[in-house]
Amino acid sequence: MQSVDSYLSEIIAAIAPLPPEDLPLTEAEGAVLAADTTADWPLPGFDNSAMDGYAVRAADVAGASAEHPVTLPVDADVAAGDTAEHAVAPGRCVKIMTGALLPPGADAVIPVEWTDDGRETVVISRPAGRGHAIRRAGDDAKPGGLLLPAGTRLGPAQIGVLAAAGRGVVRVRRRPRVTVISTGNELAEPGSPLVPGRIWDSNSYMLAAAARQAGCETTRQATLRDEPAAVLAAIEHAAAAADLIMTSGGVSMGGEHDVVKAALTKLGTVGFRKVAMQPGMPQGFGLIGGEPGTPIFTLPGNPVSAFVSFWLFVRPAARARQGLQAQRGPARRSRLAGPVISPDGKRSFLRAILDADAAAVTPLTGQNSHQIASLARANALIVIPEPVTSLPAGDLVDVLELS
Ligand code: AMP
Ligand code: MG
Repeated sequence: MQSVDSYLSEIIAAIAPLPPEDLPLTEAEGAVLAADTTADWPLPGFDNSAMDGYAVRAADVAGASAEHPVTLPVDADVAAGDTAEHAVAPGRCVKIMTGALLPPGADAVIPVEWTDDGRETVVISRPAGRGHAIRRAGDDAKPGGLLLPAGTRLGPAQIGVLAAAGRGVVRVRRRPRVTVISTGNELAEPGSPLVPGRIWDSNSYMLAAAARQAGCETTRQATLRDEPAAVLAAIEHAAAAADLIMTSGGVSMGGEHDVVKAALTKLGTVGFRKVAMQPGMPQGFGLIGGEPGTPIFTLPGNPVSAFVSFWLFVRPAARARQGLQAQRGPARRSRLAGPVISPDGKRSFLRAILDADAAAVTPLTGQNSHQIASLARANALIVIPEPVTSLPAGDLVDVLELS
């Protein structure tokens, strides 16, 4: 049996990052920046008003108060987007809107709330220091300054700053395209009627959702019957378009219905092995199709085995495909709220509920690999090392958060 760590290392060593490409900003959400992005222009690009009010020379209103307001003639009205220059002469002012170009000569903006909101003349009842309510060019980012480093996944705020910096196209590694294929004569589509002996396919829905949550685009293939030729054809078809393929089912140990194993063994590029873990012992991984090859994961059919395998192996591989660090960080430590058992020689991943403050972790009942209802209640997996066969309540354990 191969250890979990050695199997993961083998996978990560085999994964090549997707080639960088130029994507329009409208298609870049979830993509990962392939290069550092710097500002070509200052942000903001010009001095402008932070408020609706009046652009003045601060010295002209220094003595303003409620009892002794200052009255200034209003020479113009400048709105956001106006490009004409309206200078502020001594003893005069310009009405100004938020985001409008600051007129030359002005060194402060008086908020409209401190005035009578006049049109020809304005009565100002409070002074303001130089620079008041002015947004200076470059106070957010300087030209040449780093906006986002390579390796940043583009979420809403990152898309926002790229747009603000004028980038219509960005150099990125796109979201990996993942195809999910489930196999089994017993599988029926959720929503269709069942006869005894059949089950609804849960894995392909679950794995597609997991891949999307991990930043991928997904295609869910209709479930395949246990026919090696059909399974191989579907996998080869998927390999032409996908950046990563997951299958479920058909890889258990030696059954004659192990259709995925039967289909892929002929290709010779997918290695089937036992990994020293529970759940999820039977695993297959390899590269298929033309060079450099599409990574394929043949996940076990039991839903919890498939889910845990995704979490441990496929998710890091999807991250590596986008040029990201494969692992997101170390496990957390928490205290067992109840005793646990684990098979000797295997690393166990036990479904559990981790407290909000992570002080305690409660193992759930129902730890068999078909028990997807308990998986759906869990927010964490407790990790029990290979040599450990039992632990009492109160012991500290490693915990993987399922988020
Ligand atoms: P297999 O690996 O094909 O031998 O399947 C192992 C177990 O997982 C069996 O109980 C299957 O019925 C179940 N199983 C396989 N594929 C799925 C699926 N897509 N959804 C739910 N259960 C599945
Ligand atoms: Mg099967």
